Formats: sequence, structure tokens, C-alpha cells
Amino acid sequence: MHEWALAESVIRKAAEYAAREKLSSVSEVGVSLGELQAIDRKIFSFALQELVKSSFKGLSCCKFRILKDPAAFKCKACSKEFTLKVLKRTDEEAENIHFIPEMAHAFLKCPKCKSPDFEIMAGRGVSIKHIRGGR
Ligand SMILES: [Zn+2]
Repeated sequence: MHEWALAESVIRKAAEYAAREKLSSVSEVGVSLGELQAIDRKIFSFALQELVKSSFKGLSCCKFRILKDPAAFKCKACSKEFTLKVLKRTDEEAENIHFIPEMAHAFLKCPKCKSPDFEIMAGRGVSIKHIRGGR
């Protein structure tokens, strides 16, 4: 599963960070999850909790805080920046966009000039936002 592979890479990065910073224990890892990232948050969270048990021992008691990274777009024609929230769309469209970020281009257009040519500025991918721990 995609969620398990992503969870594994998050834990690997957190363990590397803890080793580099010489942390003996990690209490919390903040993980930013892109709004457009096609993963199931519940499965991802479960995968993190399961995988961390057999990981670097300093991480074994840590909590994962999953933070939502909202999607943001910028129109290439007029430079208007916009989000999914400002656009009134049907639930079905929203569902498709969550599943395949590339679909955003098929459904969205600039709210100002109606150009379908925009960049995805934020809301993709998974990254570590913060790590809290002690030496
Ligand atoms: Zn525009």
C-alpha cells in the first residue's frame, strides 16, 4: 500500500534526524499531509503507529501529529493565487481531485480570468514539519 511506503519513509527520516541531533527520545513528530495527496489519512496514521514499534527505539513512544497542508494554486496567465475553498465545486469533483492531483487541471480554472493554466503551489506530498524530543 502507498500509505505504508510513505509512513516508512517518514519514520526513516525521523530516525535519521533523531540520530543526527542525538535525541534519546522523540515525543512528537509533526507530519504535513498535502490536501491533494492521494492517501487515506486513517491508514497512514495506523501505518505510522504500527511501523514505529519496530523502528529506532527512541521513536517507539512518539506520537504523530498529522497536519493538513491546504492546496494552493497560482494562475500562470494573471498570477492570481487561489485555493480549493474559494471554488464552488461538487463533492464528486473534490473526490476526483483528492484521488489524482493531476485531475485538478481537468476540473479547476482560475476564478479571476478562467484560465485553466495554473501551477500547484502547495498541497502535494508528505513532509516532516517538526520533531520534538529530548537528549
Ligand atoms: Zn488567471
